[in-house]
Amino acid sequence: MRVGVDVGGTTVKIGFIDKGEFVHTYAIKTTKTDLFDNICKSIKEYAEENNITIEGIGFGMPGHVGNNYIDRLPNIGLADFNIEAHVKKYFPNVIIKSTNDANAAALGEYLNEHKYNSAYMITLGTGVGGGYIVDGKVVEGFNNNTGEIGHMVIDFEHNYKCSCGLSGCLETVSSATGLVRLAYEYKNKFKSNIDFDNITAKEVCDKAKEGDELACRVVDFAMDKLALAISYVVLTVNPEVIILGGGVADAGDFLIDIIQKKYQQYAHYAVTNLNIIHAKLGNKAGMLGAAYLW
Ligand SMILES: [Zn+2]
Repeated sequence: MRVGVDVGGTTVKIGFIDKGEFVHTYAIKTTKTDLFDNICKSIKEYAEENNITIEGIGFGMPGHVGNNYIDRLPNIGLADFNIEAHVKKYFPNVIIKSTNDANAAALGEYLNEHKYNSAYMITLGTGVGGGYIVDGKVVEGFNNNTGEIGHMVIDFEHNYKCSCGLSGCLETVSSATGLVRLAYEYKNKFKSNIDFDNITAKEVCDKAKEGDELACRVVDFAMDKLALAISYVVLTVNPEVIILGGGVADAGDFLIDIIQKKYQQYAHYAVTNLNIIHAKLGNKAGMLGAAYLW
């Protein structure tokens, strides 16, 4: 059986998967110390209790990972950490693979669709993640950084500082955090019914659907920059489909329609027929993708 592990900032989701189907899923807390010991012990315990033979374990990590090595992942307290060496202590004879969480989710959604040769997934959450899949494989790139469009420098108007150190990154305006940031920026410039005491990205999208002036301006700007980024992606790797996921994408066809319209303004004539679809697996995508990294 395959095991897919989706490591998040607060929980670790673990899925036992057989022939593409989830047999069992559960979650444990993300701990700042002994994280991989806790994960491995938990998997071992479940596998032994249920007489499961594990073929391999794949990990989706919340940050940069290359060749099973984590340089630094301060959000979960790991630095200079070799995943394979650590997991081998518990599972000496299984396949061990890892990638970042956006790539894992992209592969999961790609496999769930199983009708495209290539797909590019964009996740609009706290940040903006991306993953590029070709022929069932994650395209990692020379520095294992393919698909990191959240850090494409694209907004020269507000030029907000990004957590990565650059300014004007796509995720400073087009993520959930970005939508809220823009709403505050426009607060005194446009009329609005937004309740700023309880503001969320969902609230901004809901208000935009109702025609709220401020919310419409925010969504318009954020999706314009996203569409511009997508036009660069399409001219670079020309994927068969763009899959849109993450909390912000839950606003549904409303957002996809706006992105499509904006995209047409930037699209080269040969690539105007862009297919954008919704992610469908929700928080199971990362586990499925992680389990099929080999
Ligand atoms: Zn950045």
